[in-house]
Parts: sequence; structure tokens; C-alpha cells
Amino acid sequence: MDGFRRSALERLGRKSIAIKDISLQFWCEKQMELYHTAKQRPTAAMERGTQIHEKMQKSIYVPLTVEPSNYSDWMYKVAYENCTSIKSLKEKGKCREVMIYGSINGYKLSGKIDQLSIVDGKVAIIEDKSTNKSSSINEAISRPHIVQIMLYRKFLEDIKDGRYSYDNFSTSYKLDTMALSDTFSLGLREIGIVDELLSIPSIYQRMFNEMRTLPELSSEMEIRYIDKTTLSEFYNMKVPYDMKTMDSYIKNAMGYWNGDREALPVSMSERWKCRMCRFYGKECKTWWNATVAQ
Ligand code: SF4
Repeated sequence: MDGFRRSALERLGRKSIAIKDISLQFWCEKQMELYHTAKQRPTAAMERGTQIHEKMQKSIYVPLTVEPSNYSDWMYKVAYENCTSIKSLKEKGKCREVMIYGSINGYKLSGKIDQLSIVDGKVAIIEDKSTNKSSSINEAISRPHIVQIMLYRKFLEDIKDGRYSYDNFSTSYKLDTMALSDTFSLGLREIGIVDELLSIPSIYQRMFNEMRTLPELSSEMEIRYIDKTTLSEFYNMKVPYDMKTMDSYIKNAMGYWNGDREALPVSMSERWKCRMCRFYGKECKTWWNATVAQ
């Protein structure tokens, strides 16, 4: 067991957990792990999903145009764009692509919220999922998406209520060791960023401040299922936020990250998922014989 405990993040080559990885655990944990260990490139379908997100993002927001040249610059860009997005949410009632950070059991977690909108004076989280219109959205399909959106809600609330603060973030990401490159700093000056905001700590303090001062969070979230071909929404699911359910999802997922168990394959009743899996019969043979016999 100690081997799993020591190597859960190492095996995936990561220092932090992506919220998307936790959501994928609720589709197939083994598949999630294989995506990292087998170093698979995104499929055409995933890339199509990215294009849809980029198209929607461009419709309401212009990103920072100065190109980062190192990790610190990239971190700055993330915080700067978050500040711009949240400002736009407060002023115009809508923004897209907001990076969110948090912590569970000492693990760093991060993810990107598709959309925040002000609905009836409260901040509502909206997630877009692209799929084929012909797919019926059953519980197995929506479960990972529900976990993902609930985690976003939890982390946003943790920041708003001060349970996860700038100080927590600064310590875990070692912000005091980061320095912007000269070319990036020059570029920021050229587009008019003031001196007080020309450092990683100052831009992240601003970002946390913007997030803490968001209006009250809505207890209802929304998942929009968008047809890959027409890009039109064909199914809309309202998800109520429920702390008890959230806690049980976290407890379940953390069993893997804490090293209490190996990555689990899908259950026998959900082995239909294997037929859509690129690892089926290759890196994963869990249901290979059983499914082939069907
Ligand atoms: S083949 Fe099935 S059990 Fe194995 S990783 Fe893929 S979905 Fe999971």
C-alpha cells in the first residue's frame, strides 16, 4: 500500500491534481490514470471540444496578448485573465474560463470553470459538455460532470469564505520564488499595466480579492450539453449543490490519491464504456474477454 501512497502523483507526473482528473475518476478511474501514464494525445473529439470552448470564449473576452516566456509569466497571465474575467462578471453579468484553485487533504487542486453568470443576483456556475446529439444523457454520463461542477462550486465558496486564501495559495505555489521575465514585464508595461500590479504576488492578491468579493453563490448549477456538429445546446441539466453528496464524492476519490487503493476499472454493469475506450484490449484488459464474448 505504501507504494501507491508514495507514487500516486508521481505515476501521473504531476505536482497537483486537476479537477478534471477527479471528475474522470467517476467515469473510469483506470482510464484517467492511463491517460497520464500512457501519455496519450488528445483525441480528435477532445480537440473539437477545445475548439468549441475557444469559440465561446472569444465571443465575450479578449485575453492578455503579451506572450509568456516562462512558468512565472504564465502564472501571471492566468491571474491577470482571471481578474479581467471576474471584473467582466461583476460589470456585465457573465464571464468565461475562470481558473479556480483549492486544496483537499493537503493536495493542490486546480481547474477551469467554463462560465460564471449572475442569475437573480447570485453567481451561477455553468459547464458546457460537447457530445453527439444522439447520445442519451444518462446517470453514468452525467456523474463525472456533476462531480466536476460541484468541486468548482466548493472551491469558489472556499475562496469566498476565506477557507482558501491568498496566503494558502502563495505558500503552496511558492509565489515568492517566481519572477517575471524581462520581456514579459516590458510587454505588460507597454500595454499599460501599472507598476503596483507588475509582480506575481500583487496580481494574485488582486485575483483573490476579486474572487472574495463576488456576489453570493447560487446553490443551483447548470450543465449544458452541446451538439458537436451544430454547436447548439440539446440538453440542459440543473444541479443542486449538496455538501453531503460532495463530501462522499471527495472521500471516494481521495482513496485513490491517498494511496489506499489502485486505480479501479469500471464495474461489470458499466463495462459498455470499455467499447469506447482507447485502452481497451491494449493497456487495459479488465473486461476484454468478457466484453468480446457479448
Ligand atoms: S477498458 Fe474499460 S475498464 Fe479499462 S480503462 Fe478503459 S473504460 Fe476503464
